[in-house]
Amino acid sequence: MIAHDIHPVSKPRLGLEYAGGKPAHMIRKLLQKIPYPFGRPAHRRTTPAVIPASQHSLSRERLSRNAVSVVDRLQQAGYEAFAVGGCVRDLLLDITPKDFDIATSATPEQVRATFRNARLIGRRFKLVHVHFGREIIEVATFRASHGEETEDGEVQSDEHSRQSESGRLLRDNVYGTLEQDAQRRDFTINSLYYDVRSGHIHDFANGLHDIRNRQIRLIGNPAQRYLEDPVRMLRAVRFAAKLGFEIEPHSAAPLPEMAELLHDIPSARLFDETLKLLMSGQGERTFDLLHHHDLFAPLFPDTDEAIEADPDYTLMLVRQALRNTDERINEGRPVTPAFLFAAMLWPALPQRVKELEGRGIPSIPAHQQAAQELLSEQCRHTAIPKRFSIPLREIWDLQPRLERRTGRRADQMLEHPRFRAAYDFLLLREAAGEQTDGLGSWWTRYQDASDDQRRAMIRDLGDGAAGPKRNRNRRKRKPRAQAD
Ligand code: ATP
Ligand code: MG
Repeated sequence: MIAHDIHPVSKPRLGLEYAGGKPAHMIRKLLQKIPYPFGRPAHRRTTPAVIPASQHSLSRERLSRNAVSVVDRLQQAGYEAFAVGGCVRDLLLDITPKDFDIATSATPEQVRATFRNARLIGRRFKLVHVHFGREIIEVATFRASHGEETEDGEVQSDEHSRQSESGRLLRDNVYGTLEQDAQRRDFTINSLYYDVRSGHIHDFANGLHDIRNRQIRLIGNPAQRYLEDPVRMLRAVRFAAKLGFEIEPHSAAPLPEMAELLHDIPSARLFDETLKLLMSGQGERTFDLLHHHDLFAPLFPDTDEAIEADPDYTLMLVRQALRNTDERINEGRPVTPAFLFAAMLWPALPQRVKELEGRGIPSIPAHQQAAQELLSEQCRHTAIPKRFSIPLREIWDLQPRLERRTGRRADQMLEHPRFRAAYDFLLLREAAGEQTDGLGSWWTRYQDASDDQRRAMIRDLGDGAAGPKRNRNRRKRKPRAQAD
């Protein structure tokens, strides 16, 4: 019944054959440095492992009803279809899956024709979204690796598959068999296929073994797989942080050397990945791993420089921001990328301001220009959409305004739609050790005070609260306790 039983697993290939021109030179050097037993990936099987329902904890009741119905419909239409990827992995680990992915032998067009509520999406990687109210089931057609033969014995053309000079996959629409699909997935733990009808799990890459041993392991030659898609480096870290797994040494070894390949990734995709990394509830742990494997610099180059220049303060601020974000997410409270990106980039501002002031630009325009330049530079790496970059700038711009409280200014500030975010940001700066002369606790008291008390608080302010005094860069040696 199942075609994969008769298809041989293709021979492993080296990364070198993908490389050409100047990048190839660099990549060949990289590959030589990386200790890996080329051609002998230890985890590869020649026969599929089929784990019967009695030997694992998955059952169709634990999948979303909509995912089961998509699989059923595809199977009734004569196609192979399996639940795959994160949902199988997470359910085996007793984690509630974020979403449900289906892999099928049907082409995207055939999937679309099977469902009324289906939409074709993607160009680099075509798939179908089947919509059920707010739930979307993602259906992907079995893929083969590039240059591999298809079921008909043909190597598919450029229209379906395209690579950059360095070997990065620009288009990945070469269809294949279940077995081929299993080999082109990223990690062994993401390559488990659950057959809803029989209850079997198909494990072509020893994924169950790695789930048991809590290992993130790339399928195939790690360097080659990172070359094909450098985002896999970020995914390795993301899953390690999310699951509390270790990145297996051969999969971890190439990370620092290959990190710079992330500069080739379109900035919109890197922004999406950065959100998944930092806003999934394990941001602090993820940041530590990114930093450890030298993957933070390609995402936030200016912040990385700030870490080098002033590690205590920068790390304190970045970690505190991520810890707050994690707490809010885990308590089900709202979070916004505007606030988090404002925090991640804030420690990189003073250096730029200093440079501009050194060129004779006065303080206030220097701050404006530094903020502008830093944001546009950051957008070249992670394209922050306007709906986040505009409030991000407001949070920054309100920081010096929080100092000016005389007359009606404090009351006007309270009315500002971005006051709450700006105030929280001030507390964050203080928690990281910035010296603000008690500004945070002043605002905390002001918000709770009666009208009369507020008038008295304004009267008690000295001259310093009127003018545009800026002391955002002055810090105490020791961090202050967060204002109450
Ligand atoms: P989660 O949804 O919890 O973030 P996931 O593993 O389901 O994790 P998705 O991004 O939803 O991740 O991708 C679904 C599956 O598609 C993965 O489990 C993996 O098998 C495959 N996949 C995704 N991205 C890649 C990639 N860059 N290279 C190879 N395979 C990938
Ligand atoms: Mg998923």
